[in-house]
Amino acid sequence: MRMEQARCAIVDFGRKMIESGLTHGTGGNLSVADRALGLMAITPSGVSYERMTPDQVVLLELASGAPVEGGLRPSSEWEMHRLLYQERADLSALVHTHSRFAVTVACMGWTLPPVHYLVALAGPDVRCAPYAPYGTPELARLACEEMRARRAVLLQNHGLLAGGETLETAFSIAEEMEFCCEIYCRTRALGGPVLLSDAEMERMTERFKSYGQSPDAHNQP
Ligand code: 13P
Ligand code: ZN
Repeated sequence: MRMEQARCAIVDFGRKMIESGLTHGTGGNLSVADRALGLMAITPSGVSYERMTPDQVVLLELASGAPVEGGLRPSSEWEMHRLLYQERADLSALVHTHSRFAVTVACMGWTLPPVHYLVALAGPDVRCAPYAPYGTPELARLACEEMRARRAVLLQNHGLLAGGETLETAFSIAEEMEFCCEIYCRTRALGGPVLLSDAEMERMTERFKSYGQSPDAHNQP
């Protein structure tokens, strides 16, 4: 089975997406790109995450979107994932969620501002792409445009898309943006948050590059 590791990871993270409340039912989708092979692996459309198996994860050609392996129909958002991989060499995994607070912010048509330093994991802010129906080339184009220079985008009246070099990173950005969207909703209800400055967000973006157990983490101020 080609891209076996990626297909297993997609199944695992799909279950995690349900368990952690980042989506429900068959909403959302996940993918991984392998540029050396010229392929992407993506969840099948409308299949429950609990029952999904690695062989059901569909392989598509990155260049054309043509199906390569896996008998099921790919996620209806395959074009959105494919366009992002074509336009963004920095992204090799994407996670699309219907998580409650991200959807709430997206249904207001709001940008997620720098309400918490964790927003810097995705960018100075997370913009909201104007509404287009799910699974359309129009949604793909709008999402790609509004995600420029960022690792997440809200989809108006729909959900969130997050990307990273790995599925772990993309998933974690989706989780953290859900947290930030919750804080944003709560603080707006309390009268409006204190926002961080552009300069502070730039500082946080730099700081995240050495966060955790990176080799020289202990040398960082
Ligand atoms: P799929 O099951 O086709 O991936 O659709 C779910 C979804 O979230 C559409 O935006
Ligand atoms: Zn969706």
